[in-house]
Amino acid sequence: MKLIRLGEEGKEIPAVLNEEGKRLDVSAFCANYDEQFFGDDGVNKLQEWLKDNAASCPVVDDSVRIGCPVARPSKVIAIGLNYSSHAKETGMEPPPEPIIFFKSTTSVCGPNDNIIIPRNSKKTDWEVELGVVIGKKASYITEAEANDYIAGYTLINDVSEREFQLERAGQWVKGKSNDNFTPIGPWLVTKDEAGDVGNLDLWLNVNGERKQGSNTSDMIFTVPFIVSYLTNFMTLLPGDVITTGTPFGVGMGLKPQQFLKPGDVVELGVENLGEARQGVVDAD
Ligand code: ZN
Repeated sequence: MKLIRLGEEGKEIPAVLNEEGKRLDVSAFCANYDEQFFGDDGVNKLQEWLKDNAASCPVVDDSVRIGCPVARPSKVIAIGLNYSSHAKETGMEPPPEPIIFFKSTTSVCGPNDNIIIPRNSKKTDWEVELGVVIGKKASYITEAEANDYIAGYTLINDVSEREFQLERAGQWVKGKSNDNFTPIGPWLVTKDEAGDVGNLDLWLNVNGERKQGSNTSDMIFTVPFIVSYLTNFMTLLPGDVITTGTPFGVGMGLKPQQFLKPGDVVELGVENLGEARQGVVDAD
């Protein structure tokens, strides 16, 4: 099943993308895809409900904006340097255990919304990533249990300001949290349709030119390991989003370095999880 949220920012309604590619409004089943929905086993209940009710769901026009498939997650947790080729291009050592940092929840936006270059930014950069959405409250879970706690997967651009991240007194969160720095979607793809998330192609183009092209099999730490690992340090809530790290090919690793500028177009995708397209604009 593919969960999608549609409408203006802050007013999105829940929908599913059916097999013919039609967007079915399921607001008769639930108000939103939020912590309560995921925590109440909403994914399975919705799947059951659709068997009897899909035919009567209103169809939403394809022109309606797509929002993040999760309404205001309690946390967006990111994994740093999870591909050895990317660690190398940044000049940093692959870490012995996952580097984790937060992205502000206010940085979350829809998959096709504009990337906004923050005021005083010189180094706004891209990072295509596999995103994990948590399906139930998780604390001290094992790697073997991790899959039971996952609702599904999504596509994320972990937009990053390298000067804010690396040259402004050592807190990555500063370079990761501006408005529209976390485009998520188009969909949340449930586990049964995501395929083997340890072996998915992912890619990113800037202005039609391929910058990143890799596979999740190159990850240093796997999804089940990451989910289990995080629960040693925090409780994960339903709807929380984990972005699992980016492969080789970010702008800071290029020679010469290349960063985003107004008018650029970023396109990205993960196999089975859809594609996204973001224009680039300056902050007001
Ligand atoms: Zn990242």
